[in-house]
Amino acid sequence: MIPSVSRRQLVFIWFAALLIPQVYATESTPATTKIHYTISLAHASEHLVQVELTLPPGAPKRDVQMPVWNALYQVRDFSQYINWIRAISPDGQPLALRKLDKSTWRIDGVQRGARVQYETFADQAGPFNAQLNLHHAFFNLAQLLIYPSNTVSSPIHVHLADIPAGWRIATPLTTESTPDFDAENYDRLVDSPVELSNFRETSFDEGGAHYRIAVDADPADYDMQSLSANVRKIVIAATSWMQDRPFQDYLFIYHFPRGPAGGGMEHAYSTAIDVSADRLSRNPSSIIDVSSHEFFHLWNVKRIRPQSLEPIDYTRENHTTALWFSEGFTSTAANYIRLRAGLMDEPAFLHAISTQITELEGRPAHRFQSAEESSLDAWLEKYEYYSLPQRSISYYNKGYLIGILLDLQLRESSHGRCSLRDLFQWMNAYYAKKGLFFPDTNGVQGAAEAVAHADLHTFFDKYVAGTSEIPYDDFFRTVGLHLARRIRRVPDPGFRAVSNFSALPAVAELTPQSAAAQAGLALGDTILKIAGQTPTGNLERQISELKPGDTLQLRIQNDQGSRDLSFLLGSREEVEFVLQDADNISPRQRARRLAWLAGESQQSGDAHP
Ligand SMILES: [Zn+2]
Repeated sequence: MIPSVSRRQLVFIWFAALLIPQVYATESTPATTKIHYTISLAHASEHLVQVELTLPPGAPKRDVQMPVWNALYQVRDFSQYINWIRAISPDGQPLALRKLDKSTWRIDGVQRGARVQYETFADQAGPFNAQLNLHHAFFNLAQLLIYPSNTVSSPIHVHLADIPAGWRIATPLTTESTPDFDAENYDRLVDSPVELSNFRETSFDEGGAHYRIAVDADPADYDMQSLSANVRKIVIAATSWMQDRPFQDYLFIYHFPRGPAGGGMEHAYSTAIDVSADRLSRNPSSIIDVSSHEFFHLWNVKRIRPQSLEPIDYTRENHTTALWFSEGFTSTAANYIRLRAGLMDEPAFLHAISTQITELEGRPAHRFQSAEESSLDAWLEKYEYYSLPQRSISYYNKGYLIGILLDLQLRESSHGRCSLRDLFQWMNAYYAKKGLFFPDTNGVQGAAEAVAHADLHTFFDKYVAGTSEIPYDDFFRTVGLHLARRIRRVPDPGFRAVSNFSALPAVAELTPQSAAAQAGLALGDTILKIAGQTPTGNLERQISELKPGDTLQLRIQNDQGSRDLSFLLGSREEVEFVLQDADNISPRQRARRLAWLAGESQQSGDAHP
């Protein structure tokens, strides 16, 4: 039941052929010629990865490129880490190698083939990064491997060399004998993370597939048995919700580091997930949340894939309007999967929606930035100012809510006969299984209209392309709920600090005359500690656990060094939204709610008037 991979690949090659400039047409290498990489781990203590790329005989002039982005929708210019690069002929003679731009080199005299050798630095932890140290290696290979410009469709062979004694390998790449691996092309290669260490491991078979769990963490920080049991519940619920299992093997890679960390990265046959050990101990369900989200991505975004993300352009941004669907709806679906898996109950599900509404309505930018625009602006998320509430919304946040609301809309338009589950199954059948990509918002709208047999353009115009205020009660009334608005006093630290993924937060906004400002806090200061603890990424959540009038202790760093500050927390009013049962819930609303919480439609529609 492997998905129509070969057809997807054909579509990809066809588009790639359209985009490759004419100048390369005379230089192309047959797509069947294998590209070989050797990746050496000999210099782990210095975080230096040495790579040799073997180019087959062919055109005399060849360009090689380093991707500028991967994993995150952020240009990170991985060529910044390349210390040196050289090319030699098969008999060891130096070849002329010239830089064309920040990420591209041209090599002359390659007609008999060449070996391109370089050294790159890799020491960033996390699922979006590449890291080599004495403890482990975790690689997103696009951050390490340059590729010949004209051969992204060529099959690839990778040899891992100089692996420290005792380390094993976890990767979804196929192998006939480790440490040698094969990939059908560069896209597949770099969609396959590699963990090397003496990780702990477990596996299970379920529904005909083999699932492997590799954990590189302190065994004191987690319980393998319960992790494995929860992962199993997730995969059962997800494959049954989708009525599909487009893989034979799937790999979960986990890290539970101390200090700031977090995030998960989806792949077609695997996921890599980091949860800080501290967060895991305070909130064990955090791992279920991220695992079900990343697992559902194997459909939504990896196979049910927006046209705007294809072909992947490693040299610049792939601008897409679809992340409200590819990310937001993945979170929506993940919560239905958790409900079905028995890993979330109704109060927690409704609380999650309420929290997301409070978040969206609390960001003034929701009045002028649409879900589609927030997706286009994903590439700005690496800038601190961009994430301020008056500047941006999150496509995760609004996309998640649109997913909930569209589900309720589909049910209402079809008198209960269809739901979001039908929309995903339809998109899986009509796009993913046929090796096609969906045309962003139009594709989702078309699928929604096809399953509900209704005209839904108003919904998409208002809430996806537009910034109309959402009439929540109109949607939630159908399941016997209404949205209550409460004013609450919350602690106000007088500043807002934001962080770019696992980096430490920095002060991006400061209220003049606040206690924080008077204590000496300044814009741009990095927060090293809050109340003696390393910030876990969500500083606002840590502050919300305190009370107005409490003393806030910070350790900060700026160009004058690091120092401790303490000041009293102020307070401000915040509007909080809470979903509550409506009065006099009718049998019809009750039946609709039950189906909704099961993530299912009502087969015979509304049975009650
Ligand atoms: Zn995601």
